[in-house]
Amino acid sequence: MLLNNRSKNLYQEVILDHNKNPRNYSQPERFSHFAKGNNPLCGDKLDLFLLLNDEKIVEEIGFIGDGCAISKASASIMTTVVKGKHIDEVRKLFDGFHNMAVGNISASEDPALRRLRVFEGVKDLPARVKCATLAWHTLDAALNNKEIISTE
Ligand code: ZN
Repeated sequence: MLLNNRSKNLYQEVILDHNKNPRNYSQPERFSHFAKGNNPLCGDKLDLFLLLNDEKIVEEIGFIGDGCAISKASASIMTTVVKGKHIDEVRKLFDGFHNMAVGNISASEDPALRRLRVFEGVKDLPARVKCATLAWHTLDAALNNKEIISTE
């Protein structure tokens, strides 16, 4: 229980840090995929940009947006996790993250979720699940060309 509280505090610190200093918080100079995400329940909004190279690897990723600490931190951490990964791996991570956020699986069941487990606690906060998963749904939409911008 003690360890539990300690890791909870640590995770909270990670979230607050990413909220305060979001990583990859910019529009990349070049991008191949784009999507807008919106969570009206909380007022979270973000624009997500990514550049896939010929091998379908995420070469660049950036976001701009506004919202609660959880949505912003989730977008920030997501960009650091998916950068440099192949699109198939990114889709697997999206499934894993979603399953973890709604409580279907535990983060410890999948080593790939190690850096995302700070959001595992949202499964007990139903209103926050959408905040945590917004960036991932936006990424999925971008990858599925729901809103695509060609740089050519
Ligand atoms: Zn939110």
